[in-house]
Amino acid sequence: MEVSFSKESRMLRRGAGETFHGEGILAITKALLQSGVAYVGGYQGAPVSHLLDVLVQSKDYLAELGVEVEACANEASAAAMLGASIHYPVRGAVTWKSIVGTNVAADALSNLASPGVTGGALIVVGEDYGEGASVIQERTLAFALKSSLLLLDPRPDLAHMVRMVEEAFALSEAASTPAMFQLRIRACHVRGSFACKDNVAPAISRRHLLETPAAFDYERISHPPATYRHEKRKHGERMPAARRYIVEHGLNETLAGSRADLGIIVQGGLYNSLVRGLQQLGLADAFGGAVAPVLVLNVVCPLVPDEIRDFCAGKRAVLVVEEGQPEFIEQEILAILRRADVACRIHGKDLLPMAGEYTVEVIGRGLIDFFARAAPELSLDAGRTWLGELDARREAVTRELARPLPARPPQFCTGCPERPVFAALKLAQQDVGPVHVAADIGCHSFATLEPFSIGHSILGYGMSLASRAGVSPLFARRTLAVMGDGGFWHNGLLSGVQSALFNGDDAVLLILKNGYTSATGTQEMISSPTEAQKDSVADPRDSVVHLNRSIERTLAGIGVKWLRVVDSYDVALVRQTLDEAFTTAFAGLKVIVAEGECQLERQRRVKPWRAAMLKAGRRSVRVKYGVDEDVCSGDHSCIRLSGCPTLTLKANPDPLRVDPVATVIDGCVGCGLCGENAHAAALCPSFYRGEVIQNPRWRDRLAARLRQAVIGWMQPA
Ligand code: SF4
Ligand code: SF4
Repeated sequence: MEVSFSKESRMLRRGAGETFHGEGILAITKALLQSGVAYVGGYQGAPVSHLLDVLVQSKDYLAELGVEVEACANEASAAAMLGASIHYPVRGAVTWKSIVGTNVAADALSNLASPGVTGGALIVVGEDYGEGASVIQERTLAFALKSSLLLLDPRPDLAHMVRMVEEAFALSEAASTPAMFQLRIRACHVRGSFACKDNVAPAISRRHLLETPAAFDYERISHPPATYRHEKRKHGERMPAARRYIVEHGLNETLAGSRADLGIIVQGGLYNSLVRGLQQLGLADAFGGAVAPVLVLNVVCPLVPDEIRDFCAGKRAVLVVEEGQPEFIEQEILAILRRADVACRIHGKDLLPMAGEYTVEVIGRGLIDFFARAAPELSLDAGRTWLGELDARREAVTRELARPLPARPPQFCTGCPERPVFAALKLAQQDVGPVHVAADIGCHSFATLEPFSIGHSILGYGMSLASRAGVSPLFARRTLAVMGDGGFWHNGLLSGVQSALFNGDDAVLLILKNGYTSATGTQEMISSPTEAQKDSVADPRDSVVHLNRSIERTLAGIGVKWLRVVDSYDVALVRQTLDEAFTTAFAGLKVIVAEGECQLERQRRVKPWRAAMLKAGRRSVRVKYGVDEDVCSGDHSCIRLSGCPTLTLKANPDPLRVDPVATVIDGCVGCGLCGENAHAAALCPSFYRGEVIQNPRWRDRLAARLRQAVIGWMQPA
């Protein structure tokens, strides 16, 4: 991976007497080392990618400590890694994006939860929920509840989160149960500092090896009849042990308030937003001291009935602030209080929305409703004024946005190798007719947006080929599955390719091989070009993904008979190959590997190289495309086939024509798609290819002068 985390890696080495400054997710990474973790694994994904990225780049230091790090093939293999803690007293942590990663890991997680663990096992999940989320909106808590896992949802404060990591390991050991550690997007990126402790080298590790494996113990295997006892132990021993630990170590916090008859119970991760909401209402001071006592649930599974009962006893009303649906916590609190015969009115989802992120504003509105009912004597004028101002501002913005504005959907990077493939697919459909396209997770899912609007469904990462299995038999025309190389290794090879081959399916699979798992931050994988391969090319501007042929070899090895490898940027060839795949008499699985290096990664390599050349005064040539505004017909068909952010519009310089003309602005990386599209789709001949020469030599200057003279002679001013 080209992004360097050397600064973050240095931060991990800090010890007692030093202070850590930085983001929440990095603080968690440091906390793992302070907790004596012996092994770490995971699958990258926002908002927790940094955890694994930083550790992978800190392998040398981790080797000094004896900590093992694995960049796992997917979340299932990460969860299975925690199996080391079933028998052995070693602490392990894995990480992934939830809920999708938790779904992938489900099988291994259930089988881990059933026998339980000896060493502390921690799963750091990035709860990708709410504004800015990129996956389905579901709750990890649902999973924790059904498998009887522990779930921590810590208050977003760096020192507190670090303490909670250490406690989570101990809690996991006390309850013999794996613990999930939920971090929302904001908690991952919250900044702060904490006093470091020394990192702890694990007692059992690569540096301190075991002599003998654990004795055979059928109770550690998730098979019946042991599973029947596991189920009993979860309820009868492990959860009570967890509750004892939570109380004895004060994992949940009760914060005092001036009104003992009122209360708020909040998931720890929402605490900051709650306090900000109370402050906006004038019901909390700058230090968080609130009018109502607050019970902060840093552990949301299991709840501790006695804590809930004691907090609510004697109160007239309590508001439960719980994000997402269904309202598991609120329902459990209602059941606890009913059983304990505590007559306290509980509010929650009756005043707060069932779905969507609980931002400060959303919580603020719920708080106003709560206090207006529960304590009408309190003045809520400050809050109402604040919300009124927000409404007025929103109304003004809405009025402003009602005017036509250019839509700005997310899309492929400038020069992305996947854009030309979808341009070719658009053209191929002009040849063979419309096809059903099973899309997938990855950068290529941008093709579901304009200007391509290609893709009928997304069923999961690497699941496109599998997801068309029921669709293919419904059509006379072949269906197409699109998958990235990341998705191929994550799941697609087994779930899709193996299944399609075994069943003799007649389908087309298009693999976009850009060399990295780009959508999650361009992490490397088994088919990424190695550093040696990158160094072996004479010019770093050349694509290097073709140097690693592991995907092609794997496909041939598993029995794919129809396999084509094409250059992503060669639109005409990709179109022709797609046409062939859709019409060939060959009735089995047809796979097209379209290869072109992720432009983001390529630019990361090229830019320093170019900067060094310029600094050294060496001649540098940069290719750029442009549009001849005199020739541009103004129909914008090039834009509908590309969507490149640097191919845009400008006012027509011809006073006799009103339609804006296409233009290429400065960010063009010269990928060549403009020229390819112009030829493949027979567009107007307005595109030209130029070379920007920096540090020109005398020959360049002479050639430029000659050209200008000829053009001036042919086109007098
Ligand atoms: S990160 Fe790479 S693959 Fe993804 S859109 Fe950008 S250039 Fe394309
Ligand atoms: S050649 Fe065209 S598609 Fe490629 S970066 Fe330049 S403007 Fe964008």
